Amino acid sequence: MTPCTPVESWRISVVVPVFNEQEGIATLLGAVVPVLERHTPAYEILFVDDGSTDDTLQILRQRHAQDSRVRFISLSRNFGKEAALTAGLEHAQGDAVIPMDVDLQDPPELIPDFIRLWREEGYDMVYGVRASRPDDTMMKRSSAGGFYRLFNRMSHIEIPDNAGDYRLIDRRVVDELLKLPERTRFMKGLYAWVGFRSIGVPYQRPARTMGDSKFNFWKLWNFAIDGFVSFSTVPLRVWSYVGGIIAALALLYIVVIVGQVIITGRDVPGYASLLSVVLFFGAIQLLSIGILGEYLGRLFMESKQRPLYVLKESSPLVPVSPPNDRPSP
Ligand code: UDP
Ligand code: MG
Repeated sequence: MTPCTPVESWRISVVVPVFNEQEGIATLLGAVVPVLERHTPAYEILFVDDGSTDDTLQILRQRHAQDSRVRFISLSRNFGKEAALTAGLEHAQGDAVIPMDVDLQDPPELIPDFIRLWREEGYDMVYGVRASRPDDTMMKRSSAGGFYRLFNRMSHIEIPDNAGDYRLIDRRVVDELLKLPERTRFMKGLYAWVGFRSIGVPYQRPARTMGDSKFNFWKLWNFAIDGFVSFSTVPLRVWSYVGGIIAALALLYIVVIVGQVIITGRDVPGYASLLSVVLFFGAIQLLSIGILGEYLGRLFMESKQRPLYVLKESSPLVPVSPPNDRPSP
C-alpha cells in the first residue's frame, strides 16, 4: 500500500449517514481524519443526519464550528439510509465520493487503496468486498448470500457478492447516479446499473464498535423485496408460465375425469380433491395478486413524484480546498 503523494488538486468527500449516532461521530472523525490528511490534498466529511432524535445534530454543529471541513446536512425526519445517502451524494462536492457507515464497520484504512486504484489505475468505482462478517448471525449471512444469488439470476444487472455502500465513486458516476429519477433507491442495484469500470477490494468487516444496528430482520426483508421489484420483472412474468402449466395439467385432469365418467359411469366421490384444488387455486391467485400489488404500490409511490427527502438544516457551504487555501476559523 503506497501512500499517494498529494500533489494534484483532487478532492474527496466522505459521506456519512447518521441516525441516532451521538457516540459514534467523534470516534469516526478520530479514525478517518488522519487517513484523509495523509492521502488527500483536500477533503470534506459530510454527515447526513437522518432525522436523529438524540444529540447527533448538536454534535455535528459543534464539529463544524471547530473544523469547516466537517459539514452536515440534516433531514426533517428519518427517511432511511438510502435516501440519506442520496442526499449526501447530492450535496458532496468532491471529485470522488466515499459513502461510509459511522460505526467503523467500514475500515478507513481501505481509503488509501480506494484512492490508489482510482487515481493510478483509472477505476471509476472501487468497492469494498466483505471477506468476513463476524458481526452477522449465520442466518443473516446465509440469507444475504441467497439474496445475491437470486437477484443476479433474476435481474439483467449483476451486483457483486458482499459489496455494500462502502466504496469510492468517481464524480462522473455520482452525476449519473443522481440522474436516476426513481424514488425506490436500491443503491446496490443502482451502482451496478450505471456501469463504468469497477473493481472490488476485499476486507475483513469488523463488528460494530458502539451503538446498535439500525436494521432488523423485517427492514432487511423489505429492503430485499425493494431490490427485486425495482430491478426485475420476473416475479410478474412468472405467473403467465405458472398459469400455463397449471392450465395444461388441468386439461389433462379433465380428460382423465371425463374418461372415467364415460367408462365407469357416474363418479360422485371427490370431496377431498375438489377442496384441495379450490384451496390451491385460491392461494395461487392471492399470491399472484400480492405480487402484482408490490409493483402497483411502487408504481403508485413513484407516480406521486415526491422528493426523496426534506432538508431541515445544513452547515454553510464551504468549498473543499487544500489546507493552505482555507481561511482560518
Ligand atoms: N442509518 C441511517 N438511517 C437509518 C438507518 C441507518 O442513516 O434509517 C445509518 C447509520 O447511522 C449508520 C449506517 O446507516 O451510519 C449503517 O447502519 P447500521 O450500522 O445500523 O447498519 P448495519 O451495519 O447493521 O447494516
Ligand atoms: Mg453497521
